[in-house]
Amino acid sequence: MGDTIRAILIPPLVLGLLGLILGILIYLVAKYFAVQEDTRLDDIEKMLPRANCGACGFAGCRDLARAMLEGKINATACKPIKPSDRDALNKYLDEMLKASAQPASSAK
Ligand code: SF4
Repeated sequence: MGDTIRAILIPPLVLGLLGLILGILIYLVAKYFAVQEDTRLDDIEKMLPRANCGACGFAGCRDLARAMLEGKINATACKPIKPSDRDALNKYLDEMLKASAQPASSAK
């Protein structure tokens, strides 16, 4: 009788403990190894149509936004964007690039 109860209780307890340990491990890895992305990437992506059509030659809107953030390309690469949105985005990118270039120019 005791062996039967042990056989019934021990596997769920072992699996539960294993799940708890792995859950804590996943939490710690997610907390300490998280990659922080530039919040400007989200700002740029929100200004794009977010159709993820690939007409710009990138895999999706986020990839184009990343290239814009790196200063490699501007909003004219996006084909379906409205002209008013394109102008607003190019203005945002110009201001962003000027702001990021200011510390270097003031150091002269
Ligand atoms: S062309 Fe514009 S809408 Fe299409 S994937 Fe590129 S950024 Fe997104």
